[in-house]
Amino acid sequence: MKHYEYFNTLLPQLIGEKEGAVAPEITPSAAFAYRSSEEAEAIFSGESSKPLYARMGNPTGAKLETVLAKMEGGQGAVVTSSGMAAISMVLTAFCESGDRVLCVGGFFGGTYALMHETMPRFGIEGRFCDIDDFEEMEKTLQAGVKMVLCESVGNPNLKLPDIRRIALLCERYNALFVVDNTLTPLIVQPLKMGADLVIYSTTKIICGHSAALGGAVIFRRVESSEEKLRDEKFSAIHALLKKGPGAMAAVLKKRSMRDFGMSANAFASFLTLLGLETLPLRTKRVNENVEKVAKLLHAAGLKVRHPSLETHEQHLRYEALFADGCGPLLTIDMKTQQRAFSFLNASKLLTLTANVGDNRTLGLHMASTIYRDFDEAERLKLGVTEGLVRISIGLESPVAIAEDLIAAARA
Ligand SMILES: *Cc1c(COP(=O)(O)O)cnc(C)c1O
Repeated sequence: MKHYEYFNTLLPQLIGEKEGAVAPEITPSAAFAYRSSEEAEAIFSGESSKPLYARMGNPTGAKLETVLAKMEGGQGAVVTSSGMAAISMVLTAFCESGDRVLCVGGFFGGTYALMHETMPRFGIEGRFCDIDDFEEMEKTLQAGVKMVLCESVGNPNLKLPDIRRIALLCERYNALFVVDNTLTPLIVQPLKMGADLVIYSTTKIICGHSAALGGAVIFRRVESSEEKLRDEKFSAIHALLKKGPGAMAAVLKKRSMRDFGMSANAFASFLTLLGLETLPLRTKRVNENVEKVAKLLHAAGLKVRHPSLETHEQHLRYEALFADGCGPLLTIDMKTQQRAFSFLNASKLLTLTANVGDNRTLGLHMASTIYRDFDEAERLKLGVTEGLVRISIGLESPVAIAEDLIAAARA
């Protein structure tokens, strides 16, 4: 729980000022005027960090980037218009047509579709492998994969990766390791475990209030020697590495954001900063709640899935590597779609929505919504059975949540 104690004071203080406006200032301007032509040149060359044009970043977003980089122990961050925008930015900044990306474990529906359908249209192929299939991972890495992508907790299959072990493999084969940490801010710190880039949908837990769509990429520093990005396979970005320790920002912005325009807007960044102020408190409450609710539902005979339960195949890994929990999700298998629907409709507490990580407790039937465009074989591969309901636990009393869900299941 060390992170909570540290960030409980530090995060809000980074956001506010000791003098003048305490809340973060919103700078909605799309354009920024330069004092002189010389200053314009300095801004465009990167010598000056003053704002250039809002597609390349704005001061409110820059504040959010500073806080997120600090939170993650990173060199810097780039905020985006959504979580999917953050993933798209990483892929299009570092990959070329003909590259392969190794996708480890189960994935959020949007990410799965992006890697399975959309990126292949542009010549970037997603190869999928099971969360603990290290033999397959090594074989694919040996064949020259440039990037490995995984989620810190599978959504909704709740499989847990061994992040350190995957990071070591990526180190050995000079592959970039990218972790989508959307479900576990503060409780998993992928950069400290050997990842190169961390992705967030800030829409979820970092906001908590469902009031702003957003995403972020946080990156480690680029070293002057023994740097995997100096491998020949990254030759397309070698010129940009001259920018020094923060070169990944130049790679992300100049090779993707400048041309695709997935930039964050100032008002969304402001709302996200408000959410961040209470993140440590909310994270602690939610992760304690999930374990309590899972236990109560299990005791009541519901087919509940969560790594804190001994019935989960990775319970031992959960105990060993996820000391502070693994985020707000648990799933309940109601066996048939009809029973899942009547369970969800009978609940008085759940908000039925496609979101996760909200301050309220949310629920959704998976196969008829987010996963409806996939065939049954694909759904099963992603852990989505016919009656699967995903629950995202909120800040309410765990007893009240469990009582409502048990009553709904018996209705
Ligand atoms: C929601 C989500 C995303 C996509 O984020 P958006 O902000 O909705 O674009 C990506 N990864 C995970 C794990 C998510 O839960």
